[in-house]
Amino acid sequence: MLELPARLERLTGASRERADRLYEVRLVRGHAVPPPELEPWLVTTFGSVEAVRDQAVLKVTNRVTLEATLFAPLRNRRPLDGPERDRNLAGEVSATEGDPFCHPETGTPAGTFGRVRGARMVSGANAALADAHHAVLVFDIHDPLAFDAATVVDLLRTGREWAERARTDDPEAVNYLLIWNCLWRAGSSIIHGHAQALLGSGSHYAAVERLRRDAAAYEGDLIEEIIAVHRSVGLTIDLAGDVVLVAHLTPRKERELLLIGTPGMEETDPSFADALARTLIAYRDRIGVMSFNLALWRPPLANAEGWPGIPPMIRLVDRGDPYLRPSDIGAMELYGTSIVGSDPYDLIEALR
Ligand SMILES: [Zn+2]
Repeated sequence: MLELPARLERLTGASRERADRLYEVRLVRGHAVPPPELEPWLVTTFGSVEAVRDQAVLKVTNRVTLEATLFAPLRNRRPLDGPERDRNLAGEVSATEGDPFCHPETGTPAGTFGRVRGARMVSGANAALADAHHAVLVFDIHDPLAFDAATVVDLLRTGREWAERARTDDPEAVNYLLIWNCLWRAGSSIIHGHAQALLGSGSHYAAVERLRRDAAAYEGDLIEEIIAVHRSVGLTIDLAGDVVLVAHLTPRKERELLLIGTPGMEETDPSFADALARTLIAYRDRIGVMSFNLALWRPPLANAEGWPGIPPMIRLVDRGDPYLRPSDIGAMELYGTSIVGSDPYDLIEALR
């Protein structure tokens, strides 16, 4: 990732102009002066004393959306507090079998219109609502990491069906958001595999509305240009049906991926759904991600006149080892600029 400035230097013409227009990229160097007493520990932890003495940090800012990331490679090598032993995710997952989500018909409330049953899941109302319409989509299988392609495709279909049913009763509610928090590290309070769907009225959920405003204020097609910049520096994979997988230049946190369809495409379109299924399975199996946050961003289900050029897109981020004690998110992520240790090039190469 530290070679990004050199890659950008090699771009010419319209590609170069586009990259400069959209992204501010700065490679800065910092220095530390370790005492001799610390040297053995630095060698063990960071590989060498020199690695700490002279460090590079890459700062990438999307000038339009103000999404920004500090890429600090050494951060990933910091010792983090967590048990070396007694790590048994499979055991912990199976120990909670028999939870209320294992029998959702009696373990979750129904929505006012009943439940939506998909091929691999059933909807319930979230017992603690976060909006007027807020569902849980409870997977048939308890283990949250035991999903297959059919589960992912069914999630998009069942979530959408739930949203359409909810909208029938409340036509003002058109802002559909599908989210999936996998395991406690990602904020999930229940281990059993499940996602959530929300349907809001008024402005779209804030992060999605932010994107709409940024795209509307931009002269040009913002999403298309963001994809083009990533493509020009080798951070995309083109998938069937004009769906693009992007290793993000300004990830919120570790290993963030964007899966982007085309404007007007529905997220239930087989090419988009299959691309998501394959991406998630590779995220779990090839990258080894255990805990993640996923969100589907899309224009409102109706009255989407103000949303030209906004395709359906998935944002997906790794929340790290479930057994680590420190949260991956601190004051910098909440109130400053996100710090990321992983390299988008490692991510995209592993997914090719
Ligand atoms: Zn269960």
